[in-house]
Amino acid sequence: MRRVVVAVLAVVAFTGVAFAQNYPSHPITIIVPFSAGGPSDAMARILAERMKTSLGETILIENVTGAGGSIGVGRAVRSAPDGYTVSFGHLGTHVANGAIYKLGYDLVGDLEPVALLPSNPMIIVSKNAVPAKSLKELLEWLKSRPTPPTAGTAGAGSGSHIAGLYFEKVAGIQLQYVPYRGTAPALNDLVAGQIDIIVDQTSNSISQVRAGNIRAYAVTDDKRVASAPDVPSVDEAGLPGFHMTLWSGLWVPKGTPKEIVAKLNAAAVEALSDPAVIKQLENLGLQMPPKDQLSPEALGAWQKAEIAKWWPVIKAADVKVD
Ligand code: ASP
Repeated sequence: MRRVVVAVLAVVAFTGVAFAQNYPSHPITIIVPFSAGGPSDAMARILAERMKTSLGETILIENVTGAGGSIGVGRAVRSAPDGYTVSFGHLGTHVANGAIYKLGYDLVGDLEPVALLPSNPMIIVSKNAVPAKSLKELLEWLKSRPTPPTAGTAGAGSGSHIAGLYFEKVAGIQLQYVPYRGTAPALNDLVAGQIDIIVDQTSNSISQVRAGNIRAYAVTDDKRVASAPDVPSVDEAGLPGFHMTLWSGLWVPKGTPKEIVAKLNAAAVEALSDPAVIKQLENLGLQMPPKDQLSPEALGAWQKAEIAKWWPVIKAADVKVD
């Protein structure tokens, strides 16, 4: 009996190894939990394009949107742990949402980290009809409104929402949030003048700022973004210390073979080391992750540290989810 069990285990182990060796043998899907054309979607598409050269297989992007990205992450968590479904996410989806939603899955226990991806500084932008020309004037305008001005977000717990909550706190203002399925549709409404402001990811707003279709006041960093040199940092513009960059990452469902995680990680690291990819990402205002932080273990440790830092802050803000 014991011999049979050993033999069965050996076959299972061998099949697993063979499966990992042949990986990938058909297209991989990256689930982006926000709308097409937004900042997460743009980063995922740039990386997927290069990762498919390393992996030798097509990589499809599927936008599964809603509830601050928690629906898309849930879809990835429930898929087979075979490396063919990858979860793209960020500080919002893979940290903040655990403090906001009853997720039905565990962000650390049910996912395997793959690789840390670039960070996006936030940029404070308004519709052109707002009369302010500087961050100080914007703050005066926001405070003078009879009812809280409207701020577009990608849903409760998204990057734009966390940044909005942080902005309210440091600036002593009150905002009324308008949730979308991503900041791509929120930005369309800002350009059309339907909402007042977004504390947006720089990569999302930058082309509309350059085109003069919306107004930018400051980037939430201690230095200017090379791709938007005219926009001051918050330190220069009058809100020193209001620093926030939204890091992103890749995960796979728990139980995915280590060899497959390693193959996906290697493809992501190759993409992040390719000068053409770096140029594309930096042109959007994105900051590359430190080279010594690109292992799956580093992302796992970073995610846990961010949970310890942000959950108490978010729970104290008592975010309501409809
Ligand atoms: N990353 C989201 C998107 O791609 C935006 C956000 O988190 O605010 O739309």
